[in-house]
Amino acid sequence: MAPETQAGPAGAALPLPPMKWDAWGDPALAKELSADIKALLAAALGVTGDATPGPSADEVVLSPSRLAEADLKALAAVVGEAHVSAADADRLPRAGGKSTPDLLRRRSRGPQDAPDAVVLPGSEDEITALLALCAERRIAVVPFGGGTSVVGGLDPERGAFTAVVSLDLRRFDQLLDLDETSGEAVLGAGLTGPAAEALLSARGFELGHYPQSFRFATIGGFAATRSSGQDSAGYGRFDEMVRGLRVVTPAGVLDLGRAPASAAGPDLRELFLGSEGTLGVITAVRVRVHAAPAVKAYEAWSFPDFATGAAALRAVEQQGTGPTVIRLSDEAETMVNLAMTEKIGGEPAVTGCLAVTVFEGTADQVATRHQLTRDALLAAGGTSLGEAPARAWEHGRFNAPYLRDSLLAAGALCETLETATDWRRLADLRFAVTSALTSALPGALVLCHISHVYPTGASLYFTVVAALGEDPLTQWAAAKRAAGDAIVAGGGTITHHHAVGADHRPWMADEIGELGVRILRAVKAELDPAGILNPGKLIP
Ligand SMILES: Cc1cc2nc3c(=O)[nH]c(=O)nc-3n(C[C@H](O)[C@H](O)[C@H](O)COP(=O)(O)OP(=O)(O)OC[C@H]3O[C@@H](n4cnc5c(N)ncnc54)[C@H](O)[C@@H]3O)c2cc1C
Repeated sequence: MAPETQAGPAGAALPLPPMKWDAWGDPALAKELSADIKALLAAALGVTGDATPGPSADEVVLSPSRLAEADLKALAAVVGEAHVSAADADRLPRAGGKSTPDLLRRRSRGPQDAPDAVVLPGSEDEITALLALCAERRIAVVPFGGGTSVVGGLDPERGAFTAVVSLDLRRFDQLLDLDETSGEAVLGAGLTGPAAEALLSARGFELGHYPQSFRFATIGGFAATRSSGQDSAGYGRFDEMVRGLRVVTPAGVLDLGRAPASAAGPDLRELFLGSEGTLGVITAVRVRVHAAPAVKAYEAWSFPDFATGAAALRAVEQQGTGPTVIRLSDEAETMVNLAMTEKIGGEPAVTGCLAVTVFEGTADQVATRHQLTRDALLAAGGTSLGEAPARAWEHGRFNAPYLRDSLLAAGALCETLETATDWRRLADLRFAVTSALTSALPGALVLCHISHVYPTGASLYFTVVAALGEDPLTQWAAAKRAAGDAIVAGGGTITHHHAVGADHRPWMADEIGELGVRILRAVKAELDPAGILNPGKLIP
């Protein structure tokens, strides 16, 4: 293989995903561990050294492409020579997503699996033709958006087929329509978060979907995984923003969602929200948009403990006081964040549990929402910390994933998992998942926060940091299994926003029941009779 470039290995025939092949994000933003964090790692986990580095792109050995020359020619006949490649340099950056197990696999010096080719269709007709060709030639198809899946959603599984191709949606990158009267935009599935917001912002609008993976994930990926952004309290989850979808399936093209609300039977859009590339390829999404906010306000809070803070967030959400962002870190996360985040001058030291609130809208809306929320948080036992810690959180909100790479390099395994449940069960579920994780990974640091709230419940997001063992993939698999079982036993959902992919599939029957699984299988059999779309994901 040729030497690596910023984004990945050189020698690629196709445009590369904008992320490094073996790490998160833009290499220019890679973060060194601070002295505080190194001291914390040494004291808490006994981690002091550097892990063995993974191979460079030159040294990676990929499983050879299983596609015959005739298959590649047939694919090229559909999308054009310039939009298909079986080069290692194109296959490696699409070999998986960006979970910690994905990153560990990229560090392997043995043969790594990868899709057998990459195709970049440019139209729905080309996708239709590709799906027909792949069904005929027994080739599996994995739709690829931004490549940020953390649940094995992009694993190059062949299932019952001889080969697998990665179908990269990057050419679906247009703002197809903006209806300023209705507040709706039609966005190409391959647009990344920043590209979509830039197109909307040029016309004075905003989508307001800011997951931590915002800089790299795509509109189609958000829909296919039911993503939830950090501004979900104000603007809702991505699935709540979706007004319509266009989906190319092997059985035909669907154009769903024709009115702001409808009583015309079950809502078929719901079948494709969260379908994770198993039922069809989403090409365009019609979303609700709003005027770019004129004013923003920030305030951080401290709560003596997590239970008091959680009750305060519940009060805010049930009263509907209207923050755009509201989140609460537990004691451990508050302490670690203190060591990690960049400080903005004059920021007070945070003790107990840190909560962050942000408000957006017109000046009047922001003033009212802020005051109502303050009243509720004060009444619930909060102490205001002013705006600096909330601004600091926003400033660094997309940077935390870079630390995971530095932690791995330093010999610490860092991974996240999430769930949601009703308010009544939230505290017990947090305790059960934390206990499961610390039993499976003795000595691990388990941090937790609430970042998505609903009148009836909230999500719990866990970050786990442990000393890297001899066999970290097996080490994490055991911890993940224990946490998943604890989630199911505790009445939580196996995933609030990361989706199912391959990693959560073992719990799908617990989540929706055997009959639910049969319904999904029946739908798949109708839409994808050959079963070529993303085998081994979502549907057990
Ligand atoms: C560091 C980090 C932080 C994250 N933070 C968040 C967060 O805050 N909130 C959140 O919700 N998620 C988060 N995620 C998870 C991930 O970013 C989301 O699942 C995201 O929605 C995936 O979008 P993508 O474009 O990268 O899709 P990909 O990763 O490329 O694909 C995800 C799945 O969707 C399918 N797919 C993709 N595009 C299409 C399409 N057009 N049609 C059909 N199927 C398709 C793929 O086959 C795959 O199964 C995070 C991930 C990382 C690595």
